[in-house]
Amino acid sequence: MNPNLTADRPTFVTHLECSLTGERYEADRLHGLSRAGKPLLVRYDLDAVRANLPKGMLTARPTDLWRWRELLPVRDTANIVSLGEIETPLIPIPKSAGSPNVLVKDEGRLPAGSFKARGLVMAVAMAKELGVTRIAMPTNGNAGAALAAYATRVGIETIVLCPDDTPEINVREIAAQGARVWRVNGLIDDCGAIVGKGAAEGRWFDFSTLKEPYRIEGKKTMGLELAAQFGWKLPDAIFYPTGGGTGLIGMWKAFAELEALGWIGPERPRMYAIQASGCAPIVRAFEDGVEHAERWEDASTIAAGIRVPKAVGDFLILRAVRESGGKALGVGDPAILRAVDDCARKDGLLLCPEGGATLAAYREALRTGEVDEDERVVLFNCATGLKYPMPPADNALDKDGPIDFGAL
Ligand SMILES: *Cc1c(COP(=O)(O)O)cnc(C)c1O
Repeated sequence: MNPNLTADRPTFVTHLECSLTGERYEADRLHGLSRAGKPLLVRYDLDAVRANLPKGMLTARPTDLWRWRELLPVRDTANIVSLGEIETPLIPIPKSAGSPNVLVKDEGRLPAGSFKARGLVMAVAMAKELGVTRIAMPTNGNAGAALAAYATRVGIETIVLCPDDTPEINVREIAAQGARVWRVNGLIDDCGAIVGKGAAEGRWFDFSTLKEPYRIEGKKTMGLELAAQFGWKLPDAIFYPTGGGTGLIGMWKAFAELEALGWIGPERPRMYAIQASGCAPIVRAFEDGVEHAERWEDASTIAAGIRVPKAVGDFLILRAVRESGGKALGVGDPAILRAVDDCARKDGLLLCPEGGATLAAYREALRTGEVDEDERVVLFNCATGLKYPMPPADNALDKDGPIDFGAL
């Protein structure tokens, strides 16, 4: 049994806070967005965490997501759900990146094959804690798969809506893991509108990205983990494939909390929000110098996970990127495909298209001098490359005929 799940530990949540206005909300109640229509952030008594969690105690624990229990919102250990949320490895890809200092954080090793597991394991545990019995969610695929897996495990009913061109494997894995999944003739925000309508009628709880407060807390563990893996010194830059931006917002929050604990200093990585140029609302808002992003019309990219025309946390993404001295960068589908192909052929690591987007963006940033070859850079590979279409490999041998060994 994993001691991170059995130990009886206190929790330190004090309240929730509107990310725009700072208005306070009570903990231990079911919340969606704030009254201002913005995401809620969970706040902790970090002085008490510091007193109760010496760094040495943390580092002595098994290295999974639940080692961070004191910085997470679940109160009752009995509500924790787990499918084995391991600490994901950092893998150098010197040949395809063109620098030995680039590391891929390979999130494809997580349950259901993507980093959506981090957010959904937390959101589902909290839904259980707060008595939710039915959840609906719009998804481009991976979030629905992670939701289905965890909700099934704790006996919560789930309805998942996805665009009708969502990769077939995602739709099927959602169904196979016990959710009711529907294909919708629209994009993710069209699916979200249906989910919102049902929620307003009291049919279910709305699990859209950032519309419940706890996915950020789960995604925050990426930042906590990076700090631990880098020996409490952060990398120089992080390239994050940005759809709803949960992970980028979560990591930024993690760094602030770690600094408050005294575990890291004030230095921060430059945060790069990477989008596909066929759906780049955050890039456009960044370049226009505005705080909120307009909806991106006719969104289109092979990187389905970042095909998000409008993000409710847009201002939080833009703030983190700007405060960090980073940028929002767009990359085209051909560059994404080239990056995926190069990384697999030259470094033996199969990326998902969204992970490929971070590599493509890094190579462009290296070329333009935006990053330096000596800088330590982390690229996020957010899902296993095995879920996505691969180029055909059609060579065949006739065992009964003559074999040209020289040609093999
Ligand atoms: C969800 C998803 C993203 C985007 O993550 P956000 O934190 O919502 O921006 C990127 N890639 C893949 C594969 C995803 O499933």
